[in-house]
Amino acid sequence: RAAMAKSKFEYVRDFEADDTCLPNCWVVTRLDGRNFHRFAEQHGFSKPNDDRALHLMTKCAQTVMQELEDIVMAYGQSDEYSFVFKNKSNWFKRRASKFMTHVVSQFASSYVFYWKDYFKDQPLLYPPGFDGRVILYPSNQNLKDYLSWRQADCHINNLYNTVFWMLVQRSGLTPVQAQDRLQGTLAGDKNEILFSEFNINYNNEPLIYRKGTVLIWQKVNEVTTKRIKLPKETEEKEVEVTRTRTKAVPLHCDIIGDQFWEEYPEILAD
Ligand code: ATP
Ligand code: ATP
Ligand code: MG
Ligand code: MG
Ligand code: MG
Ligand code: MG
Ligand code: MG
Repeated sequence: RAAMAKSKFEYVRDFEADDTCLPNCWVVTRLDGRNFHRFAEQHGFSKPNDDRALHLMTKCAQTVMQELEDIVMAYGQSDEYSFVFKNKSNWFKRRASKFMTHVVSQFASSYVFYWKDYFKDQPLLYPPGFDGRVILYPSNQNLKDYLSWRQADCHINNLYNTVFWMLVQRSGLTPVQAQDRLQGTLAGDKNEILFSEFNINYNNEPLIYRKGTVLIWQKVNEVTTKRIKLPKETEEKEVEVTRTRTKAVPLHCDIIGDQFWEEYPEILAD
């Protein structure tokens, strides 16, 4: 390829914009499902939280982490996922368009590829799309605050959605009536409605709904069975083999407080 002669058309390459990410910054790529309000309706997602959809999102994010380079962690909720590339990454010479397009296309193709593993014989009715963006964070604190912002968003939306769907599904309010009822209410009011009208303690709702999903690299022991033939025997034998692999493991914990970062200091370490 180096031997290939340059054509007179080659100059058009100079029209490409330089989108190199600033050195030393954490590179965050966030994707979000396009019009998933409609997608959820058309595919009969259970409300407020469809577990199949949440687990499919996480499977896609694990695929992105495993297939691409230099991702140190990911955080997801609803129809979005954020991926953090290490601040010293030099993948594709730190070109923002490469980070963004590889993340989004790998995620979208995985969503279609793995759909049937989570939705079984429920058909995928049309090809879903995702938008993407790249954001640079120059300090560890900025990055932590970014992730805290997404987790706070998860909490606020989930508290609202939990009460909203209780009012619709259990009290028979129309969506407009439920919306009116919640207009201007504070978190405390919503907790109170859940407790007094539906006997629900919000703090006992599943962590995956309240906190979203954090993906971090962890060493895990994988036990597989292998068929081997020993030299002196004629029959094949099944043996258990344990090997250590590094996997993107899901957690549903708080990442706003200091505890998470104290427990996993290697995430932000060089
Ligand atoms: P946009 O294209 O602007 O992102 P959108 O319709 O996707 O539009 P979002 O703000 O991204 O709007 O909201 C995503 C919507 O997808 C939620 O409001 C919710 O209705 C639905 N949704 C996503 N994941 C789930 C899930 N696991 N269970 C139930 N509903 C979900
Ligand atoms: P990169 O990730 O850098 O793009 P690449 O392997 O995709 O790596 P390209 O320069 O994009 O490299 O080249 C695409 C390659 O895919 C071609 O060299 C060719 O081997 C193969 N390829 C693509 N389309 C076809 C096709 N229709 N028939 C046969 N081979 C193809
Ligand atoms: Mg090519
Ligand atoms: Mg949106
Ligand atoms: Mg969306
Ligand atoms: Mg969204
Ligand atoms: Mg190519």
